[in-house]
Amino acid sequence: MASTRVTCQACGLVLNDSPPDQLSNRPPCPRCGSTQRVFEIQVEEKIVATDHVRIAVSGSVGSYLTVPVDRLHKIQQILNRHGHEYWTDATSFSINNQPPVAIINLPPGSDVLAIERLIEQEP
Ligand SMILES: [Zn+2]
Repeated sequence: MASTRVTCQACGLVLNDSPPDQLSNRPPCPRCGSTQRVFEIQVEEKIVATDHVRIAVSGSVGSYLTVPVDRLHKIQQILNRHGHEYWTDATSFSINNQPPVAIINLPPGSDVLAIERLIEQEP
């Protein structure tokens, strides 16, 4: 069993909000107007804390990186510097009160291994 709680990433207000795949018609936060969200997911199974970058490869729709929110800006700079295409979701996920992670989407055909290596080389 998993339960989720949605909060505003900007101000922390708890919201009854749409699921993460309904980004386009998401209303702004009533307190601060942000559409950035954190989905806090509580699960009973033990989940290993992730403090590093994960890459998931999912064929036709491209791949995505799961990165700690506090490293997102740095990783975007790396991708920009090397000319990689990507886009980020305005939603972060926090699992079992771990620090929230953000999603960086990569288009189909991205060289995910090269990108992973680039990111891991950075301090
Ligand atoms: Zn807010």
